[in-house]
Amino acid sequence: MNKFKFQSGTKVFFGANCLFDNKSEVTRLGKKAFIVTGKTSGIKSGALTDIISMLNEANIEYQIFDKIENNPSLENVKEGGAACRQSKADFIVGIGGGSPLDAAKAIAILAVNDIEPIQLIKNQFTQKPLPIAAIPTTAGTGSEVTAASILTIPEYETKMSFVHEDVFPKAAFLDAKYTESMTRDIAVNTAIDAMSHAIEGYLNKIASTMSDVFALEALEIFGACIENLCEEKFDSETREKLLYASMLAGLTIAQTGTTIAHGMGYSLTYFKDIPHGKANGLLLAEYLRYNNEAAQGRVQAVLKALNLISIDDFEKIMNRLIRNDIDFTREELKKYSSLAVKQKSTAKNLRSTSEEDMYRIMEKSLIDRGTH
Ligand code: NAP
Ligand code: FE
Repeated sequence: MNKFKFQSGTKVFFGANCLFDNKSEVTRLGKKAFIVTGKTSGIKSGALTDIISMLNEANIEYQIFDKIENNPSLENVKEGGAACRQSKADFIVGIGGGSPLDAAKAIAILAVNDIEPIQLIKNQFTQKPLPIAAIPTTAGTGSEVTAASILTIPEYETKMSFVHEDVFPKAAFLDAKYTESMTRDIAVNTAIDAMSHAIEGYLNKIASTMSDVFALEALEIFGACIENLCEEKFDSETREKLLYASMLAGLTIAQTGTTIAHGMGYSLTYFKDIPHGKANGLLLAEYLRYNNEAAQGRVQAVLKALNLISIDDFEKIMNRLIRNDIDFTREELKKYSSLAVKQKSTAKNLRSTSEEDMYRIMEKSLIDRGTH
């Protein structure tokens, strides 16, 4: 067995009504809450109304910051950090998909550290961040159980992550009712992101016996949900399974991090505005073929857990879930591979990967489109 460290700093509450059933896990975090959410996700999901009524009942003051953009930028979290500092809040409630939850982590640091947001990427801060409670409204990123935050950095024309154990949310409340308002596309894209976390955590140089348990369990649950996803049958049981699987996949990457599918996907999001999960999904079949040449046993284990026979079957599923119809030039893909190879996560891919390898995966996925 390989050596490993396993860490999670988050108390997880899962199931219907888990927020109201465990009010004290929020109210004990402080005296004034700074609520970080997106423009619509807090309201549409119902989670914002619930948290406000809970805080009112407990006589806890709050201030709402609902300006988090998708794929939050350094500028966006800077504004949030300044507003949080001014509010004198002593804890944070993050509500939303990965964007508000990741932003909540950055804001928790910026509110108490006089630094430029770019310094987050190198963990250049000294004061302990404010404690965070997290309420996911997508079933995708698993950010509610990770210590990672991914931010858009225009200066580097990409997204980059920072990871610090002090930003593990202190408590996470996973109630699938908050994911019911997602549109079909948001539900599908975020589910693919979560599946991608489980796969990349499994095809990872630092995967361990223990991270594999979470990854394979997450993949088996996805496997059981794939048909419903394709048929757009979002019943409450499927929603709940996807939320659970997304958390398991989050626990996986909290140990391993992601690898090259995410690293390449960041450019698709940065330059073409493709949603995060879809960006990964466009690349996953070729990424599996690429890894299969060096790690056939583990790629086959991924397919088996998903209850699929071959990578071709996997590709057919992806083609049912997402449209691969955006035009790319070879010059664009050259630029993307030169950026992706610099991501820290590239070194963790199970098969050692060069810039040229990344270019080929993207060319096959986005220009040749399945004519392998
Ligand atoms: P997102 O960017 O948070 O949200 C995507 C869209 O879904 C937004 O328009 C959002 O609305 C909407 N939305 C969210 N919940 C909804 C709901 N219940 N009902 C209706 N609409 C809803 O999407 P995401 O895929 O969850 O997060 C992506 C971000 O997370 C990326 O920046 C990615 O890099 C990051 N990420 C982080 C980790 C990690 O470990 N920390 C892992 C993977 C990805 P609003 O705009 O109103 O919010
Ligand atoms: Fe992701």
